[in-house]
Amino acid sequence: MKNVSYKSVESKRFLVNEIPEFSCGRAWIELDGAALRYNISSLAAELPEHCELMPAVKAEAYGHGAVLISKELNQIGIQAFCVAAVAEGVQLRKNKIKGEILVLGYTHPEDFHLLCQYHLTQTVVDYPYACLLNEYGKTISVHIGIDTGMHRLGEPWENMEQIYEIFEMENLRIEGMFTHLSADDTMSPEDQEFTNAQIHDFYQVVGKLKEQGYPCPKLHLQASYGIVNYPDTAEDYARVGIALYGVLSTREDTEACRIPLKPVLSLKVRVASVRNVHSGEAVGYGRQFIAEHEMKIATLAIGYADGLPRTLSNGVGEVLVKGYRVPIIGRICMDQTMIDVTGIPDVQAGDIAVIIGTSGEEEITACDIAEQTGTISNEILSRLGSRLERIWV
Ligand SMILES: *Cc1c(COP(=O)(O)O)cnc(C)c1O
Repeated sequence: MKNVSYKSVESKRFLVNEIPEFSCGRAWIELDGAALRYNISSLAAELPEHCELMPAVKAEAYGHGAVLISKELNQIGIQAFCVAAVAEGVQLRKNKIKGEILVLGYTHPEDFHLLCQYHLTQTVVDYPYACLLNEYGKTISVHIGIDTGMHRLGEPWENMEQIYEIFEMENLRIEGMFTHLSADDTMSPEDQEFTNAQIHDFYQVVGKLKEQGYPCPKLHLQASYGIVNYPDTAEDYARVGIALYGVLSTREDTEACRIPLKPVLSLKVRVASVRNVHSGEAVGYGRQFIAEHEMKIATLAIGYADGLPRTLSNGVGEVLVKGYRVPIIGRICMDQTMIDVTGIPDVQAGDIAVIIGTSGEEEITACDIAEQTGTISNEILSRLGSRLERIWV
């Protein structure tokens, strides 16, 4: 019998999808706590004293694991978070996350009781929605979204009468007001002009409210690119998402970023099986790959259901094995992926392959995968599946 290695992965704190008896058997995410803390201090150093980081931990903290990340952030003094959905806020509270939790997106009126029960802050997505929140009858904490040009959520900045009315609503506790910059990721003259207009229009609203004698709530405009490209717009909070996780949306932006960041997440997987394939034989569904010579292939225990984009099939994507960069061959399956390990010494079942992260001198980042699949790192990370185990290293 061959000497098969099933080395376990060592970790200080080991919590995996709340099933502690599972231990990096198949495919998993390793979270680098030192990198997370490094990014927090890098980003905090960019902001004035009075501006607090409000990490976006929506979508399982961009795939990293919302509870794991938020607990760590709580421990290092982060006191404010934003999520997209009320259920995400409830999940955090059930796991004892402290501080302000702002729901950035829509909450159905039937779920308003959850906002009160779990002390969540709701975004006022527009004037009619403010009326619904007010009609609920119990006090709800809110931040008012102001639409300054993205045309997604927020009351349009021109509608001062509606905005005054929102400030008069007796059941809303207005703790914040914010806008979202929709073209802050490029410094093209047109985008700068547009972004500066967004900033200007937001302050028009702030100024008019002050003129009318309304108390000014906490303000925020910046997401990650806002911190990088518009440092002067820092107010009470910065809603940092992707940068906190150590990358920007594209490889180019990440390389050019003047704020030093380190990727927090690595994605690793076990080799399930290694086999030889003869010239002329096919690999995978649809026989999309035909060997042109004797080959050695390895099957990895990860597939598109885990968030590995199927468009990486047929040589588009690569993985790292023992410090070598090797191609994905054939079609990525729901739960398995085949790679070409011809000529790589001693590859065997139980070995670890790296999908995102480093191996020897080589590195593959979420941005590389995004580039290969025509998207942004945010999407690659946030789609990493719930079947993956998540651990701190
Ligand atoms: C997701 C989101 C953020 C965080 O964005 P990043 O670009 O990832 O930093 C901030 N604000 C709003 C309104 C969001 O929806």
